[in-house]
Amino acid sequence: MLDTLRRTIQEVNRAPDLPRALSIIVSRVKQAMVVDVCSVYLLDSELDQIVLMATDGYNSDAVGEVRLRAGQGLVGLVARREEALNLDDASDHPAYVFTSKIGEEPFHGFLGVPIIQHRHVLGVLVVRQRERRRFAEQEETFLFTLAAQLAGAISHAGASGEINRLLQQSDESRYALKGASATPGAAVGVARVVYPMANLEAIPDRPVDDIDAEIAEFRAAVAAVERDMRSMSARMVDSLPVEDIALFDALILMLRSENLMGGTIEGIRAGNWAPGALRNTIAEHVDAFEDMEDPYLRERASDVRDLGRRILQHLQSIHPVARKFEPDTILVGEDVSASQLAEVPVNLLVGVVSARGSSASHVAIIARALGIPAVMGIDDLPVGRLDGQELVVDGYQSRVFVRPSQAIRNEFLRLQREEAELSTELQGLTRLASETRDGVRIPLYANTGLLTDITPSLRCGADGVGLYRTEIPFLIRDRFPSEEEQRRTYRQVLEAFAPAPVTVRTLDIGGDKMLPYFPVEEDNPFLGWRGIRISLDHPEIFLTQVRAILRANAGLNNLQLLLPMVSGVGEIDSAVGLIRRAHEELLDEGEELVYPKIGVMIEVPSAVYQIPAMAARVDFFSIGSNDLTQYLLAVDRNNSQVAELYDALHPSVLRAIHHVIQEAHAVERSVSVCGEMAGDPVAALLLLGMGVDSLSMSAAGLLRVKWVVRSFTQSQAQKLLDEVWELEEGSAIRALLNASLEAAGLGGLVHAGR
Ligand code: PEP
Ligand code: MG
Repeated sequence: MLDTLRRTIQEVNRAPDLPRALSIIVSRVKQAMVVDVCSVYLLDSELDQIVLMATDGYNSDAVGEVRLRAGQGLVGLVARREEALNLDDASDHPAYVFTSKIGEEPFHGFLGVPIIQHRHVLGVLVVRQRERRRFAEQEETFLFTLAAQLAGAISHAGASGEINRLLQQSDESRYALKGASATPGAAVGVARVVYPMANLEAIPDRPVDDIDAEIAEFRAAVAAVERDMRSMSARMVDSLPVEDIALFDALILMLRSENLMGGTIEGIRAGNWAPGALRNTIAEHVDAFEDMEDPYLRERASDVRDLGRRILQHLQSIHPVARKFEPDTILVGEDVSASQLAEVPVNLLVGVVSARGSSASHVAIIARALGIPAVMGIDDLPVGRLDGQELVVDGYQSRVFVRPSQAIRNEFLRLQREEAELSTELQGLTRLASETRDGVRIPLYANTGLLTDITPSLRCGADGVGLYRTEIPFLIRDRFPSEEEQRRTYRQVLEAFAPAPVTVRTLDIGGDKMLPYFPVEEDNPFLGWRGIRISLDHPEIFLTQVRAILRANAGLNNLQLLLPMVSGVGEIDSAVGLIRRAHEELLDEGEELVYPKIGVMIEVPSAVYQIPAMAARVDFFSIGSNDLTQYLLAVDRNNSQVAELYDALHPSVLRAIHHVIQEAHAVERSVSVCGEMAGDPVAALLLLGMGVDSLSMSAAGLLRVKWVVRSFTQSQAQKLLDEVWELEEGSAIRALLNASLEAAGLGGLVHAGR
C-alpha cells in the first residue's frame, strides 16, 4: 500500500493540470483498493455545491452534471462533518440520496473521506463497491493520506477557477463569454438582439437645391427625436431616480446643442443634403469624445452615435417599428444604447449584454440604477446567433452563459431570488446606525463626484461624504472652472450633507484622469505628474480651488480637506502653507471662515511608513486602497491583462493597511478607508477587525456593508483577522471571509462582494 501511495503521489504531483491529477487519482485508487468505483467531488464555493469532477467506474457523462447542495447526501455529509464515512450499505443510511445520472444502482459499499486544506473542505474522495463491504481501517487511512496530498494539488491549481474550466471543457454549451466590465446582479432570460437603427456611416454626400426646405426637414427630424426622448424618459420616470432621468435630459440638451444643430445646418448651407451634413457633424463629435482621456466622457461617443441614427431615421421617415418584448428579456447588441434600453418596458427587462461599451456607458449607468445586471465589452459576442437563445447574465463576474445547463440555470435563478429578498431586507437598514453588535460605531460615508451622486448617497443613509472627488466637475468641462463656479458646486455638496462631515479632496488629476484642456504627455503617467504634484507645481490652480472650497464652507463648517497622492512630508508642508495662505487672504478680504481639518490620502507606499511624521502635520488619514494596491503590487489598476493580479486582499496590502491604522492610532489620528475595498462586504469585515474608524464607499454598496457591521462584533472581526494573517494569498483570504459571512447568515452578500 505504502508503495502505491508513494507512486501515486509522485504521479499526481507531476500531472500538468488538475483534471489530469484527478484522473490519475481515481484510476490508481480504484486499482489499489480493488473497488468498483473511485470518484472525486470538489466544492464549487461560488455556487456552494459539491460537483462530481472525476470518476473511474460511474457514468463519465455525469462529470460536471452531478451537483449536490453543500451538506446534501452522503458526500455532502462527509464534507460537512469533515470526517470519513464507512458504510457497508450506503442506501441504508438516512442521509443517502439516490442519483440516477451516475448509474449507481448496483453499488452498496461506501467509503468517503474529506479533502481538507487550511481547515477548509475542498471536496470528497469516494470509493464504492458493488457488494456490501466495510472497508478496513488501513484502507481508510490510505484514502485519508491520499486525500491530504490531493488537497495540496487542488489548492495549488486554484480550485474554483479549475472547476469552471473543467466544466466548460466538458460541454460547449456551458461556455461562458467574458466581458470587460459589468453592473452587478444575476439574470436568467431570453436574448432579444437589437440592431443599430440606421447606418449613418453609409450615407453619401448629395447636393441639395432647396436649402431652406432641407433645413426645415432637419429641424423637424430633430424635434421628432426630442419627442421620442421625452416619451422614453416619461416611460422610465416611475422606475428611475430623478438624477438618472436627468441623463435623458442631457441627451436632449446634446441634441439641441449649437454644435450639433448649428454644425449640421452649416453643412446644409454649404450645399450638402441633411443626412450627409448630419453624418459629418456626428463623426466630428464622436471623434472628439473618443479622444477624451476620461472613460466616462469617452463613453458619451456612443450616445452621440445613437442620436445621429435616430435623426437619420426620421429624415428617412423610417419610423421605428414598435417591437413586442416578452417577459425576461435580455437585451443584446453590438453597442446597446440607453435609448434602446428605454424602449423595453422595465417590467419585462432582466439583463443587458453589449459587445461594446463599459460600466461607464450610459446604458450601464441606467441599468445599474434600475438594478438590472449588464455585462459590457464582450469582444467575441456572437450577436448574430443569439436572438431567442436562453442566457444567464452574471454581472458579478462579468460573464454570460449561452444555453446554460440546467444546473447553472437553476443556480442563477436561486441567486436572483435571494437577491430580491436581500434588497428588501437591506432597505430596512437605511435609518439604523452603523454599529457592531458590541456597540462600536463605524460611520459609513459616501464617495461622490457628480452632483447626481448626492441623492442616492442621502437616500441610503450615508453618515456624510468620506471622499468628494473634485476632479470630476473639472473633467466634465472644456476649461478650468472659475473660483465662483467651483464654490457653487462644492457648496451644493456641503449643504446637502450638513451638519454631517464632507471630506473634499483637492484636485487629483493625472494618471488616468486627464483634463481634456490640460493635456500631459508622459510615458508613465501613474508614476508621473499626478495629484498633489500638479497642484504644488501650479499654485494658481491649487489656491483658486482651496479658496473656493473654504468659501463654500461658510456658515456650514462641515468641511474636511484631503490631499491626494502624497509621497513625502515636504508635499504636506507646501500644501498646508498654501492652504494657510488662502485662508488668511480670505480673512483679510473680510470673509468669516473656519480653518478646516486637513487629512492625507495614504495611497503611495512611502506614505505608509511615515505616519508619525505626517501625523505631526495633519489631523486624519484616509487610505486610498485603489492606488495603494496598484503601487504595492505593481499592478496597473486599469490594465485588464493583469487584472487577476490586482487584489486589495493581497496579504501585503492588508499588512500595509493594518500598519497605517496602528501607527495612526498610536498618535491619536483617525483612519478611514475610501478605496473600492471599503464597499466590499468581506473586506469591510477585515477593516473592522483592524479597528478602522470609518469607511467611505459608493452609495450602491453602503447598505450591504452596514449589514456586515451590524452582524458582527468587533472582537469576532479581530479573531478573523488573526486567522487571515496565517494565509498567504488573497484568494484564500477571500474564501475564509466568504465562509464567515455565510456562517453568519449573510451568504447573499458573498455574491455581491465577488
Ligand atoms: C484610491 O486610490 O483608493 C482612491 C480612493 O482614489 P482614486 O480612486 O480617486 O484614485
Ligand atoms: Mg487614488
